[in-house]
Amino acid sequence: MNAFRCRVCGSELFFENSVCVSCGTPLGYSRVEHDIVPVDVAGRYVDPDGFIWHVCRNLNISGCTWLARFEGGQCESCDLTRVRPNDADLEGLGNFVPAERAKRQLIVELDRLGLVVGPPLCFDLLSSTNQSVTTGHDSGVITIDLAEGDDAYREKVRGKMDEPYRTMLGHFRHEIGHYYQWQLVVSPDETSRFRALFGDETADYQEAIDRHYAEGAPAGWQDSFISQYATMHPHEDFAETWAHHLHIRDTIDTAVRFGLIDDPDVDSFRQLVIEVWMPLSTALNIVNRSMGKDDLYPFVIPAPVLDKLDYVAGLVERATA
Ligand SMILES: [Zn+2]
Ligand SMILES: [Zn+2]
Ligand SMILES: [Zn+2]
Repeated sequence: MNAFRCRVCGSELFFENSVCVSCGTPLGYSRVEHDIVPVDVAGRYVDPDGFIWHVCRNLNISGCTWLARFEGGQCESCDLTRVRPNDADLEGLGNFVPAERAKRQLIVELDRLGLVVGPPLCFDLLSSTNQSVTTGHDSGVITIDLAEGDDAYREKVRGKMDEPYRTMLGHFRHEIGHYYQWQLVVSPDETSRFRALFGDETADYQEAIDRHYAEGAPAGWQDSFISQYATMHPHEDFAETWAHHLHIRDTIDTAVRFGLIDDPDVDSFRQLVIEVWMPLSTALNIVNRSMGKDDLYPFVIPAPVLDKLDYVAGLVERATA
């Protein structure tokens, strides 16, 4: 995440700020400038080309601070949401806020990587208050169960699933992995690279789910997978690896921007993980323990996972070259 500063008074800003807490200037996020910019009392920002932007109409619904092209319109992040809870569903709308926040954070990172973020990609952010919802990806549509925005609920599921880490942002990073696999692993070359690392993705998915929930992860899974869930099916292994690739990149990026570490001078993602991420994540884990919190990054990266992470980084590089 970027380190943002108020253009009026120079104070540090958080990505979610709609107002500078130091000088009171109303703010908006410009996706074009990748920066938080001051807006006038009517929520307008005039960019360097003279174009007038307007704060997204969903500011009071989802806390969206992004700038929209039209007065009374919504921003490009909100445009990607196809379905949201209806106005009468107060519980769903409450959990809609952290989901949209995580989605905006995801988009900023995808923008930084230079990945295409647009149709056919869209999000159904569904409330499971009155219906059952399964988080997942299908042909460009990412469905998120908004109940996962509720800390008590998510923590309960995390314990039940025996997961060391479960967050709304993590769900978005995992599901977008399925999307980009679908978009980018297409050519015969790319497919054979994929299969060499993750296995045959045409393996029956329902069978894999049934086996996983009946038997759990195979013994010794830690030697070649990042999580138990990744052992279920090559699709899940890829999505988990993709999510970790984003976790690692964004956290290193943030550490650099806040002066915790120097800008890494490395030749590969593999080298970045070994020389920068491993020591940084260990230090951050111990920082968390100093505060009585659980580890920030409760994972171990064995050599085969390093190969998979390096492949994902290469896939992104090839897609954005
Ligand atoms: Zn300010
Ligand atoms: Zn918006
Ligand atoms: Zn998945």
